[in-house]
Amino acid sequence: METPAAISIRNLVKRYAPAGNAPAKLALNDVSFDVPQGQIFGLLGPNGAGKSTLINILAGLVMKSSGTAEIWGFDIDKDVRNAKRSIGIVPQEVVFDPFFTPFEVLENQAGLYGVPKAARRSLELLGQVHLADKANAYARTLSGGMKRRLLIAKALVHTPPVIVLDEPTAGVDVELRRQLWELVSELNAGGVTVVLTTHYLEEAEQLCDQIAIINHGQLIANKPTRELVGMAREKVVVLSLDGEVARLPSHAAFLKCEKTGERTIEITYDKDRTNAGEVLALVQGQGLGIIDVTTREADLEDVFVHLTSQAAA
Ligand code: ADP
Ligand code: MG
Repeated sequence: METPAAISIRNLVKRYAPAGNAPAKLALNDVSFDVPQGQIFGLLGPNGAGKSTLINILAGLVMKSSGTAEIWGFDIDKDVRNAKRSIGIVPQEVVFDPFFTPFEVLENQAGLYGVPKAARRSLELLGQVHLADKANAYARTLSGGMKRRLLIAKALVHTPPVIVLDEPTAGVDVELRRQLWELVSELNAGGVTVVLTTHYLEEAEQLCDQIAIINHGQLIANKPTRELVGMAREKVVVLSLDGEVARLPSHAAFLKCEKTGERTIEITYDKDRTNAGEVLALVQGQGLGIIDVTTREADLEDVFVHLTSQAAA
């Protein structure tokens, strides 16, 4: 049986009307996909691809032009209340009233969602995002990283089964990025379905079970991360040899073959057309002994470049 969908999007279109100097813009062009329950799902795409537009439609902040979206089975038009209750959104921009404490920020948000006092878990949430000791500090005294974590806690006050983070690590340093990745993994391990948008390939590759790629408002891929990375057809093998290379081996499936040192060669081949065994045999057939072999797989970046350039063509 298929995993039920946490979010289900069908034929979503968003056309921004021209305003001031900004021309009309087709920001989402017939986008359809499902986010399976229980995953960390990545919506990956370059700046301007349409990621925030899609998230803001789910959040009820942007009106879609056409298409449908369901959150936890609730249609965002026909069942607004339940759809809203099923999702927590962490916006790209960090904004807080500087005079509230983290505890108050969460209590206010819980009030907005109608969470009864007895059911509130502000302190527990602050603990979850590692801010327990800041419960009563003014929000303006928090570091950038603490503010981001507080935003995540804020999105969780009504205990939604799905949380969406729009570019959680854009412009943050390496240390904070690692902290946020850890937090996202902890939340997911606790049963929350996580959707995050990012333009960092590495982030999507490290963190996400499945990745949808969006470019110029169109969905150009949607696959388990491992499969997506597997779509890269290039593989590189580096060989250390026991003698000097006089003549480079050649084969129709080689994309590149070069001498990188007196006794080393690097061969890039199409893994659909040959394999490492064949490559090694070919080199040995020339009377060269192989001392060491290392291979390198193409990564998500290769796939991404390949897909986005195809889509542009
Ligand atoms: P991303 O989040 O992937 O960077 P956005 O969804 O923010 O992309 O933007 C997608 C496209 O829509 C961009 O070309 C952007 O300039 C345009 N856009 C975004 N918001 C508006 C708006 N309010 N009015 C007009 N165009 C917009
Ligand atoms: Mg954005």
